[in-house]
Amino acid sequence: MDATTAGMATTAAAMVWFRKGLRLHDNPALEAARRGAARVYPVFVLDPRYLRPDPDAPSPGSARAGVARVRFLLESLEDLDSSLRRRGSRLLLLRARDDVSDAVCAALKDWNISKLCFESDTEPYALARDKRVTDFAEASRIEVFSPVSHTLFDPAEIIEKNGGRPPLTYQSFVNIAGEPPEPVMEEYSVIPPIGDTREYELFPVPKLEELGYGDISQEDVPPFRGGETEALKRMRESLQDKEWVDKFEKRKGDPSAFLKPATTVLSPYLKFGCLSSRYFYHCIQDVYRSSKMHTKPPVSLTGQLLWRDFFYTVSFGTPNFDHMKGNKICKQIPWKESEELFVAWRDGRTGYPWIDAIMIQLRKWGWMHHLARHSVACFLTRGDLFIHWEKGRDVFERLLVDSDWAINNGNWLWLSCSSFFYHFSNLRQPPCTTCKL
Ligand SMILES: Cc1cc2nc3c(=O)[nH]c(=O)nc-3n(C[C@H](O)[C@H](O)[C@H](O)COP(=O)(O)OP(=O)(O)OC[C@H]3O[C@@H](n4cnc5c(N)ncnc54)[C@H](O)[C@@H]3O)c2cc1C
Repeated sequence: MDATTAGMATTAAAMVWFRKGLRLHDNPALEAARRGAARVYPVFVLDPRYLRPDPDAPSPGSARAGVARVRFLLESLEDLDSSLRRRGSRLLLLRARDDVSDAVCAALKDWNISKLCFESDTEPYALARDKRVTDFAEASRIEVFSPVSHTLFDPAEIIEKNGGRPPLTYQSFVNIAGEPPEPVMEEYSVIPPIGDTREYELFPVPKLEELGYGDISQEDVPPFRGGETEALKRMRESLQDKEWVDKFEKRKGDPSAFLKPATTVLSPYLKFGCLSSRYFYHCIQDVYRSSKMHTKPPVSLTGQLLWRDFFYTVSFGTPNFDHMKGNKICKQIPWKESEELFVAWRDGRTGYPWIDAIMIQLRKWGWMHHLARHSVACFLTRGDLFIHWEKGRDVFERLLVDSDWAINNGNWLWLSCSSFFYHFSNLRQPPCTTCKL
């Protein structure tokens, strides 16, 4: 027993339910499960909603995720499992038949869990899933601890401080937010062992080839590997170049720099929580402390993390954030219907080399520079084809490795001039398109 656990009541068995947050560092849910528990069950549930193969999808994968993102997830789970095993534990992978919450509730009951810890999540799908689990836990007298640790700030708190509405400009968000909490950086040499898992078949993290996506041998493997180990290595490499950190100015990078991208390429790691945004923020601040001058939000590196939190907060406080209809902050625009133009855009066949190259990079790597995303999103919507942003959003949502509900929808709203940003457009009339497709 260490100083932190001394004097605490012992929990017989705790479950830490991983969803995002696939890491050991800055993980308050894991820390709470570990404290005072004789046994800790680290669980991840494979969700068919994201993983079930869809042979009709335009590229290999499921209806909601391309193979690049599924590969990244499996690599991240493997890395998490190895880290747990080095500390005397392991990841318990459950396969949900349909609803993830059913699998979690069954395990809570079967393993006689008395405390459940999981990172809170603001996505509508996650909120509904988590409510089913929390309701079951409360009815079964299981203690629930669900801290905010995916973002720098608690979106609900910011909304409350802003009088019950999300701040709709970056600056007002920054003014309200202040400084984020410090990360919880416990070093674990040991994690309490798992208990009896009777009647449960335990299996290792599956290989991508085992998930039934057909022949994926021709698919490109993106040049970044999933997992916390890789995330921390990549973050440290980025922050080593202090001058680069000090001078980081988002709009100035070269979006076609592939061998050494102009930005950190940490978004997939932040998406899956292999890297804590609070820890990343804290490490950037360390670099700033030793520098004479550095750039500031919104263009600086910390400014990028604040953009992330801005979109999380607005998305949490805006009903129907992911739709035009019923979304109070979204302009109602008479977008055009053209399946032919849309498919040409999606498949990188517009005849505009820059646009097509970016869409091919999306399909192969699942990551593109921010300005490249700008180009194709603008081209599809207000810039040229005048096609609904929700259609482009769906393509990004499926293919991006860093696909993130709040950030993706927020940026599509922005780029299509549907919300946040209207200065350069007059979208009351459809623009005259020069496209010759
Ligand atoms: C149409 C469109 C869709 C997008 N969809 C996503 C998405 O699904 N997931 C996603 O993570 N980013 C998305 N972005 C934002 C941005 O392009 C990526 O976060 C960024 O390119 C990731 O690269 P990086 O990690 O090297 O970023 P860096 O510049 O190194 O920034 C560090 C981190 O800050 C955050 N960040 C940076 N830019 C933004 C931004 N504009 N909004 C919110 N957070 C930001 C990301 O978490 C990023 O990893 C989208 C942008 C556009 C224009």
